[in-house]
Amino acid sequence: MPTTNSSVRILDVPVHDVTMESALNTIDGYIKAKTPHHVVTADASMLVMAQDDPDLRRIIGKADLVTPDSVGILWAAGRKGTTLKERVSGVDIVDNLCRLSAANGYRIFFFGAAPGVADQAAECMRNKYPGAQIVGTRSGFYTEAEADSIVQMIRDSQADVVAVAMGIPRQEKWIDANRDKLNASMLIGVGGTLDVLSGTVRRAPRIMQKLALEWLWRVLSNPKKITKVMLLPRFVRLIIQKR
Ligand code: UDP
Repeated sequence: MPTTNSSVRILDVPVHDVTMESALNTIDGYIKAKTPHHVVTADASMLVMAQDDPDLRRIIGKADLVTPDSVGILWAAGRKGTTLKERVSGVDIVDNLCRLSAANGYRIFFFGAAPGVADQAAECMRNKYPGAQIVGTRSGFYTEAEADSIVQMIRDSQADVVAVAMGIPRQEKWIDANRDKLNASMLIGVGGTLDVLSGTVRRAPRIMQKLALEWLWRVLSNPKKITKVMLLPRFVRLIIQKR
């Protein structure tokens, strides 16, 4: 039976107060339930985008689990008097599911990122966690004509978990549109996770993660990320105004 987690509303969407451990227990319940569940990993940029995108807001609002994926979210919850327990990021969730896959038999599909990256991420995870069942991969660049065959490919893989790494909000919308066609019980949008797990992009050094400077590392490693960082001042303004 999936567990219920308490939540706080930030900019009109719910964010759940979970730890990595409780999120993994909740996800285990989803996988055992064998019906589709959507897990959103919310960061400040997503909540700003959702302000101007009612469809994204609707999708986050009806997701089964919304984890706090950035220090900005923890800060915003704190301003509303809720101390969220910890940051639970998409990359850490996928890494943990791969670790658990070896023992629990979770079948995981990696969908997203540039050609070759999902394969490389799968190989890295199998090396890191021998026995991990990454049962299929597909890059996140495709034509409209290929869209149905990707759904079929995921169905055929009999995956329990589909990690969709195509960036916000594309991945959330793809999950919402396809959740009932995949026969999978846990669908999660994970942004640049496959780039990180494949070693294509290096994760910020631990010290920067601890100092909440992972965003700065990402911008320095990939200047295109600046568009995402540019949403942060608006996030801060919105949170301060809404108080
Ligand atoms: N991507 C994709 N299909 C697309 C556009 C992007 O698979 O049509 C991938 C891209 O290669 C990258 C990921 O989506 O691996 C986006 O990562 P990013 O860190 O920008 O995600 P976000 O910051 O939105 O979480």
